[in-house]
Amino acid sequence: MPKLLCIGEILVEMVAADVDQSWLEPATWHGPFPSGAPAILADQAALCGATVDLVGSVGADPFGEACLARLRRSGVGLEHVRVDDTGTTGVAFVRYSASGARSFVFHLPETASGRFRLDDPATALADVGLVHVMGSTAFSADAVAAIGRFVDDASARGVPVSFDPNLRPEMLRRPEHVAELRRILLGARVVLASEGELPALLGDASDAACAARLLGGAAQVVVVKRGAAGASLFEPGRPEAREPGVAVHEVDPTGAGDCFGGTFLALYLSGTDPTTALRYANLAAGLSVTQRGPMSGNRSLADLEAALRSPAPGSGRPSQSAGPSSGAL
Ligand code: ATP
Ligand code: MG
Repeated sequence: MPKLLCIGEILVEMVAADVDQSWLEPATWHGPFPSGAPAILADQAALCGATVDLVGSVGADPFGEACLARLRRSGVGLEHVRVDDTGTTGVAFVRYSASGARSFVFHLPETASGRFRLDDPATALADVGLVHVMGSTAFSADAVAAIGRFVDDASARGVPVSFDPNLRPEMLRRPEHVAELRRILLGARVVLASEGELPALLGDASDAACAARLLGGAAQVVVVKRGAAGASLFEPGRPEAREPGVAVHEVDPTGAGDCFGGTFLALYLSGTDPTTALRYANLAAGLSVTQRGPMSGNRSLADLEAALRSPAPGSGRPSQSAGPSSGAL
């Protein structure tokens, strides 16, 4: 199977124990959980059988060790992850409010986690079938430059790009960063966006209008993730395919989009047809929100197949339809 190469932040995450927990007073936090959007995606892709390498950086400290141990256990290749003893591993704090909204405090740009780069693109990209980039990685000028170079290095060698805008509100205030994300989006072969992100980057009125524009350019597949409402797939010359959300009790939705992406890309790279990949990704992401911690709900393809065959009550939607191995390969 062609290899997947992801780039970006590896960090630990602390999750507030209570809804609407104060940022200003001492309180209880769960964690540290291994995290970072590209790391979550790579972890899930590896669990689903992809050959996947991650380009990143962590500090020479226990938080870095915890992240690398988790990724190694899941089978992610760490050859391009630097352990930088001049800084510490990044930390994100996340808190949910009663409305369902999320807020973050990030310690990232100034940490060892922010100092990733691909040193040897010729070697690293030699046997790669797809590179994946996420907008959450555009957290500093250096990081934006690193992902821009990464995409250019891949494109120069004919390696297609997959992109998840994964926009953070604070990024939209930096026009030069937004312009770079738009450039990466317009050149991507696979686009995995959340509802509203494509109109925010492209200015078209709807996700469907943006998908049509992208499919008229470099894109072959555009997915729009719709949280509890599931996800949609757009392909050239085909009607929108919708997958409804699985019925679950949501505990911690952070990382669901990345679990979705890891599952989708692993199956896509294995030659599975995108409609089947959509169904598995939607199931994996739906099940992932039932557990606290951004990677805690990641699971293998075998587990997903078992859930499709005989879902536990409240853990998914029964389905007898064909698995990825019986898709159009
Ligand atoms: P993040 O960036 O935090 O990882 P996202 O914004 O990229 O998330 P979402 O649309 O929130 O992505 O969620 C991704 C996918 O996860 C959805 O398309 C859906 O398949 C699944 N999902 C998320 N929340 C729920 C939920 N409450 N119930 C069922 N499925 C869900
Ligand atoms: Mg996202």
